[in-house]
Amino acid sequence: MPPPGLRAVSTIFLDRDGTINVKPAEGEYVTAPADLVLLPGAARAVARLNAAGLRTVLVTNQRWLSGPSADPACYAAVHARLEQLLAAEGGWLDAAYHCPHAAATCDCRKPCPGMLRRAAREYRIELDRAVMIGDSDSDLMAGRAAGTSTILLRPGAAGSAAADAVADDLPAAVCLILQAQTAAG
Ligand SMILES: [Mg+2]
Ligand SMILES: [Zn+2]
Repeated sequence: MPPPGLRAVSTIFLDRDGTINVKPAEGEYVTAPADLVLLPGAARAVARLNAAGLRTVLVTNQRWLSGPSADPACYAAVHARLEQLLAAEGGWLDAAYHCPHAAATCDCRKPCPGMLRRAAREYRIELDRAVMIGDSDSDLMAGRAAGTSTILLRPGAAGSAAADAVADDLPAAVCLILQAQTAAG
């Protein structure tokens, strides 16, 4: 049985690094389009959400943008590459938010729920009918703080008490969500 929290969802919040694309080494960031590499099956998984009529919203921490020499145009170029790679598999993001701030200086850097709440205002999202998918505890915490269900991506790991469900990767998480929609009729 799919977790009850995944029934009747309308919006999927997606972390980026480690969820859609290969996570850079700790303390490093994807700052150039050529460094963005999608995880296996991730673009198809996003496309399945799109085809099911579920809204997809990216919420990503990009602290490197708070550095004095960081160029927002670099982030825009990376994001354009992401959209291009998703589109190649028929996928798209309905909305995308990023936090460019240093740690502990804002209310949007996950684990804070600011990006999710802003998306909810701007797109009239019912947060109790949304799911946050990510590979970090900070994703789960942001989702819980905003009132969404949560799926933690953790290959081969046992369940996390903080998550409504745990899946190996994004394709597996999408299967869980789509199964839950079918079960809910
Ligand atoms: Mg991540
Ligand atoms: Zn922020």
